[in-house]
Amino acid sequence: MTSRRDFLKKSTLAVSILPFLKPTKVFPKSISKSVKPVVISTWHFGVPANDEAWKVLSTGGRALDAVEAGVQIPEGDPKVNSVGYGGLPDREGRVTLDSCIMDENANCGSVAFLENIMHPVCVARKVMESTKHIMLVGSGAQKFAVENGFKKENLLTPESKKAWLNWLKNSNFTPDPNLLHDTIGMLALDINGNLSGACTTSGLGYKIHGRVGDSPIIGAGLFVDNEVGAATATGTGEEVIRVSGSHTVVEYMRQGYSPMDACKETIKRVKAKMKSKEAETQVAFLALNKEGTFGAYALINGFKYAVYSPEENNTLKKSDYLN
Ligand code: ASP
Repeated sequence: MTSRRDFLKKSTLAVSILPFLKPTKVFPKSISKSVKPVVISTWHFGVPANDEAWKVLSTGGRALDAVEAGVQIPEGDPKVNSVGYGGLPDREGRVTLDSCIMDENANCGSVAFLENIMHPVCVARKVMESTKHIMLVGSGAQKFAVENGFKKENLLTPESKKAWLNWLKNSNFTPDPNLLHDTIGMLALDINGNLSGACTTSGLGYKIHGRVGDSPIIGAGLFVDNEVGAATATGTGEEVIRVSGSHTVVEYMRQGYSPMDACKETIKRVKAKMKSKEAETQVAFLALNKEGTFGAYALINGFKYAVYSPEENNTLKKSDYLN
């Protein structure tokens, strides 16, 4: 029989070796009740995007269809100058778009450096569903889109052209002008408990022609693992790519971190590896797990995200931040 003293001795030993067995801090899995359906998305334009996604989710539709429908709203809105139509051009005056989509079965599709197509997310889905590839870029992506019935359109609005002409006067590109970019990343959990995500952007305003950020890169701008959760990113893509941001968030959730803590740990990693010296450099992550728990975390103040669920009436929330 184990005496009380032996027991105490053994348990003290167990406690003292535990940190060596588990080098990573692990939180207990959340035991919150499951909420579904849920849709979350980045920035203020996430609100109308969520409304569209909710039409699909609230009628029993699939998360994949919801995110594709949702992100098309800012893609088609000329007033959103960081996504799709009306997006700020690169320094040559050309609007080039990046987008990706991922479903509950690890199917994914992506397009990058795509010009003259209003809804790159739909082209990304077409790549996912009708080719053996994941990513198409530039003129190849455009050729594929046109062959599949997408219309070529001018995406440079008079407002964005004016802003670009004004910028040309000094041509001063600070890599991280905080107001010249913002992506819509959207994550959804449907009534059947399946997760999907989509991400779409015109990238950094006045970037070098040909520059591609994190948004169309599976694992950087977006990642979905139906066993665990999903994550998406916004902000300076170069800093997100450096740490495989969205994949890292999902891996933290796999270890048992809550969505918010998973985003926070990844933001700490971004900060540790960061090359940008600009104080206004923003990076933010948004995450949703299998139970419908969501969370976000940003590097600096200012990141907002929208949440629609049976418990949240499409509310815009302020994210916590590190600096
Ligand atoms: N992540 C995007 C990019 O680097 C921009 C943003 O979300 O602000 O292209």
